[in-house]
Amino acid sequence: MLQLFIPLNFLGFVYREIRRSLTDLENMLGLLKKEAAIKDKAQAPQLQLPQGRIEFKQVHFSYQPGRPILNGLSFVVEPGQKLAIVGASGAGKSTIARLLYRFYDIHSGAIEIDGQDIRDVTQHSLRQSIAIVPQDTVLFNTSIRENIRYGKPDASEAEVDQVIKMAHLEAFIQSLPQGDQTLVGERGLKVSGGEKQRIAIARVLLKGSPILIFDEATSALDSNSEAAILQALAELAEHHTSLVIAHRLSTIIDADNILVMHQGAVAEAGTHQQLLAKQGLYAQLWAKQQEAKIKAE
Ligand code: ADP
Ligand code: MG
Repeated sequence: MLQLFIPLNFLGFVYREIRRSLTDLENMLGLLKKEAAIKDKAQAPQLQLPQGRIEFKQVHFSYQPGRPILNGLSFVVEPGQKLAIVGASGAGKSTIARLLYRFYDIHSGAIEIDGQDIRDVTQHSLRQSIAIVPQDTVLFNTSIRENIRYGKPDASEAEVDQVIKMAHLEAFIQSLPQGDQTLVGERGLKVSGGEKQRIAIARVLLKGSPILIFDEATSALDSNSEAAILQALAELAEHHTSLVIAHRLSTIIDADNILVMHQGAVAEAGTHQQLLAKQGLYAQLWAKQQEAKIKAE
């Protein structure tokens, strides 16, 4: 009886371990799957990034035939500038970030960084140049610290400490029994949406790429931590070209240019003041959000 019990128990252990590894593997494959279809050209050079200017030229894209998502989208982000993208859910905002990172290739038009078509350079160099805080962050089954380090595996301890501060994670980490060694991910500590976003922000800060994309990166934060993090991001963004996809308009009023997306194209563009003066879509959206804010207070 005893003899039988031990191996079965052991097998159970092995099975659980395999299942855990598979979950990790599946997560990884889920991330990689999208990239598999896209290949580098033979002898593709590295992306040269002297400035960080981004241009979308008449970009057409759809995920499925017959259902166009972007219909001739054009815009320019000058080096060091902050472009905000707003618009209803489903308007194609996150798609813009995915295309710039080249998760998918476009059907016609071109996407250029500093004059180079992103299809002509290596994916590796392209993705080293861009850091994204995505709408939904994946945490790996490892410690918080390792999850942050994922942004730059060879970062020094001091660098990791610094981004933990910048992303306002210090107090949260100190409150945990095992501090930054606490395991997170599916089999670790359950972290809130806001904490996850701050971990993602720390990762991006650590990666230190010249182009930054924030996809509704502070949407799950309460107003206080949002304000503090936006302050840190604004300081950072001064030296980077950044693309900020936002739901709350109050977070992007300082942008150099704001695109209002509607059905896959730019419906309006301009600064916050210019767009308010137009009294169009943006002005309506702004009024609606201000109203909701007053009601909530
Ligand atoms: P937003 O970020 O503005 O809310 P998205 O860019 O995520 O919008 O999506 C734009 C449209 O594309 C939506 O209608 C969405 O359902 C569709 N879409 C997004 N991802 C996929 C996908 N992988 N396959 C098919 N359709 C998709
Ligand atoms: Mg989105």
